Amino acid sequence: MAREVLHWAHLYDEVVTTGLCTGCAGCVVACPHDVLGYDDNEGAYKPFHLEDEGGPGGCGHGDRGCTSCTRACPRFRAWEPEIDTHLFGRTRAADEVAGISKDIILARATDAKVAEMGQDGGLVSAILIWALEHGYIDAALVSYLEGDGTSWKAIPGVARTPEEVLNAAGSRYTYSANTMAYAEAVEGGAEKLALVGMSCQSSVPPVMTLRKAGKPARRFVLNIGLLCSKTFDDAIFGELLEARYGLRKQDMVKMNIKGTLQIWMRDGAYHEVPLKECHAWTREGCKMCPDFAAEHADISTGGIGAFGDWTLTIIRTDLGREIMVKMLQDGTIEGRPGDDDPGAIELLRKLSTRQRKRWPESAVPAPRLIPVAPA
Ligand SMILES: Cc1cc2nc3c(=O)[nH]c(=O)nc-3n(C[C@H](O)[C@H](O)[C@H](O)COP(=O)(O)OP(=O)(O)OC[C@H]3O[C@@H](n4cnc5c(N)ncnc54)[C@H](O)[C@@H]3O)c2cc1C
Ligand code: SF4
Ligand code: SF4
Repeated sequence: MAREVLHWAHLYDEVVTTGLCTGCAGCVVACPHDVLGYDDNEGAYKPFHLEDEGGPGGCGHGDRGCTSCTRACPRFRAWEPEIDTHLFGRTRAADEVAGISKDIILARATDAKVAEMGQDGGLVSAILIWALEHGYIDAALVSYLEGDGTSWKAIPGVARTPEEVLNAAGSRYTYSANTMAYAEAVEGGAEKLALVGMSCQSSVPPVMTLRKAGKPARRFVLNIGLLCSKTFDDAIFGELLEARYGLRKQDMVKMNIKGTLQIWMRDGAYHEVPLKECHAWTREGCKMCPDFAAEHADISTGGIGAFGDWTLTIIRTDLGREIMVKMLQDGTIEGRPGDDDPGAIELLRKLSTRQRKRWPESAVPAPRLIPVAPA
């Protein structure tokens, strides 16, 4: 029997239009014919075909045998067990709800400026600066704020220097498909890239590698994940934060989520908005996302737990461990055992369990919770 050629028509029908698509842009970056575009307008964050042939799900290159987009998609068919096996040599066990890992620790940057500018201890920025300075990477794909920052539109971009890494530090809670900065990084001469991204994006590099999705796979050498339960649609600024609370985005300087949406204003004022009220602005692409803990990153990072200025750090791969050990040894970061904050580990499991229930029954079973066999 001829092998099935899985191309854009399959991706469009099985992922883009079923609600599984996260907007990670893996397919867009991998397309060798540049016929996929990316709509990052409010309410969208989806790939689309740039040519009219055959309607939105048609692709002449796919008809002629091109399969790059399905190979690069971390929501296409059996993505989770395939990536687990590729990265860890096995699929996750029932109790590994937050994915397979080697160590869980608390870490933070020892450089006061990096720690201060980072969201939860500055670990991610410290890793990127260290990796640039030690030749692991030439550039990192990160997220900046557009223009002077007052629009709060999060946009993908490239960081090639410590200064650029720090300009991108902190968290924005709207979507930024950092993978989309790939072309700019490569045009600038970078060969070894780090990708920083939410869980959905951190499954892109390994799926590209294992399914041989072309050149980008070779260039993603370091994969830093951000724990993530959702991103908000950009409309939240006008429709909720300004309309109901009078908080104008141009007056905001920082946001965080710690059980509530925390907002710091330019005039020094501080506000909290209950997350319950924000739910209506959950971005479409997050509603079926089963991965809270960035289960396929080299190092996954989050801000849950008792210690606000330490990053909860899940070390998953040999590369992740090598980098963390070297950074601890040379004093770039400091660390303490995850056991110092058992509440954080418990919350990690609870949120990971809850998020896996989002994956729909109509799709392949793997990312859902694995039933524990009776003793
Ligand atoms: C949308 C979002 C949701 C999150 N949800 C949770 C959560 O529910 N629970 C939890 O424990 N942690 C969550 N995190 C992770 C947390 O906010 C921190 O990013 C993480 O703890 C690392 O902190 P740090 O100080 O080491 O990072 P930093 O040193 O501040 O570096 C953060 C990096 O993230 C990049 N970044 C910022 N915003 C975005 C964005 N919107 N899209 C892509 N990249 C971005 C920056 O460019 C920077 O490189 C979330 C992060 C984001 C962006
Ligand atoms: S999940 Fe990512 S790779 Fe898959 S169709 Fe959506 S944007 Fe493309
Ligand atoms: S919940 Fe987070 S990781 Fe999942 S699709 Fe949304 S942004 Fe991506």
